[in-house]
Amino acid sequence: MQEFQKDFAWLRQTVISQQLCTRCGICAGVCPAKAIEFDQQNFPVLSGRCTSCGFCGECCPGADVNLPALAQELSDKEDTRSPLGHIESAYVAHAADTQTRRAGTSGGLITALLLFLLSAGQIDGAIVVEADPERQHLTRGILATSPAAISNAAQSKYCVTPSMAALRDIRIRKGRFAVAALPCQVHGLRKLAHVDPKLSGKIAVILGLCCSCTMSGEAWQEALRAAGIQREDVASFEFRGGGWPGGMFVRKKDGTTVPLHPNEAYGTVVNAMFRLFGPERCRLCVDGTSALADLSFGDFWAFDYADEFSRMECCTQVFQRTAKGRDILQSAEQAGAVVLYSLPAAKISARTLAMIRGKRSRAAVQMAKRRQRGLPNPDYHAAIQEPSLNDRLKNLPADLFDLLRKNAALRSGILKILFSPLITPLHKLRMRFFVRHHNR
Ligand SMILES: Cc1cc2nc3c(=O)[nH]c(=O)nc-3n(C[C@H](O)[C@H](O)[C@H](O)COP(=O)(O)OP(=O)(O)OC[C@H]3O[C@@H](n4cnc5c(N)ncnc54)[C@H](O)[C@@H]3O)c2cc1C
Repeated sequence: MQEFQKDFAWLRQTVISQQLCTRCGICAGVCPAKAIEFDQQNFPVLSGRCTSCGFCGECCPGADVNLPALAQELSDKEDTRSPLGHIESAYVAHAADTQTRRAGTSGGLITALLLFLLSAGQIDGAIVVEADPERQHLTRGILATSPAAISNAAQSKYCVTPSMAALRDIRIRKGRFAVAALPCQVHGLRKLAHVDPKLSGKIAVILGLCCSCTMSGEAWQEALRAAGIQREDVASFEFRGGGWPGGMFVRKKDGTTVPLHPNEAYGTVVNAMFRLFGPERCRLCVDGTSALADLSFGDFWAFDYADEFSRMECCTQVFQRTAKGRDILQSAEQAGAVVLYSLPAAKISARTLAMIRGKRSRAAVQMAKRRQRGLPNPDYHAAIQEPSLNDRLKNLPADLFDLLRKNAALRSGILKILFSPLITPLHKLRMRFFVRHHNR
């Protein structure tokens, strides 16, 4: 067996203590000794004896991801260096089944594909993220092996979830499995192929989510407190409930439903919360579209379009990147499980392009700040530009939020404003003056 050097002590010293841990969970998922668990904030901790096999450190995407080399392994096309990654074809799509479509985040496409793959015998289960049954405002990764468990895990959870820990369950089972993953998790999964090919070989397909940012777990505890809702009263928490485009909802044990804000203000609320509760490592991430996945999925904002795409509300934007991804989309469409509309490259959502540009600009600024403080940055094996004046100006609101986010009372005050009637005029103001229009 190949020998690796990066054991848990290396991980603790080089990644966790340097605030480079993505909390993706892959270290725990690949540990053959099952010696890694998580603390209250979902950071990995050693709970058993480290055998120094090095699997955890070698798969970790926190400090080192060779993006060009991993992209090259998927495709030798020149456009692998595009910020969107290599895309063979793009679609606007939705689940054929209305219930699955409505229960999903965008068009329910990921859930529909997983249900199709399971029923067709192409997979034996999938790693997905569900609400934690003990604490409904928090989330956990599971290996779902039944249609009910897959459907129950639909919808985006904007909450740090070390869901790749569920690779432990894949290790001990026979079969082939799909994985729904954020960009950082996809990076770890691609590294896994070089570390533990047997485990990696059980992964039938990687379904990557677009991701601008996520939030640490305390975001939801503080949100509930600011909204005056007791945790014990919460039956379920929806991050994108209430129909497209959705918003944050609390369903209480007494049967009542409490929307935390009007759905139309969702963008402003979630944006402010990302700034208040976005983990340090997310702010250093340069991959907004899961560029190394087989298929990548994001929201499709129909109201940005003036042509036939303007009618495609409640849909998912899909990037097909690999032959495996193409086969799955084609067979699911032929079986009538999903509905696909071809999206020409020139029509790819301007909002997605703005998100990835914003993410890269934010990473450039944050990395420059860390360099000044003598802190290490993730090594992507690709030149990260020094931030331009424009980058620094664009990130001024983030600097302001950086000051505010350190103070619990100020955070609580901002959340109270976000969940008050003031949010509607504030949202309109933001849309009018600060957010560029994305009409196509
Ligand atoms: C933290 C986060 C940030 C996002 N940011 C953007 C963005 O900026 N722009 C954009 O276009 N899209 C973003 N998305 C993706 C978008 O919200 C939808 O997930 C995507 O459009 C797929 O929708 P769907 O209806 O096809 O998926 P669904 O059918 O709703 O299925 C979603 C699948 O993803 C799994 N999942 C949910 N949360 C997580 C998680 N945290 N980690 C891993 N798997 C998870 C679910 O268990 C489910 O299997 C983000 C998603 C997340 C979780």
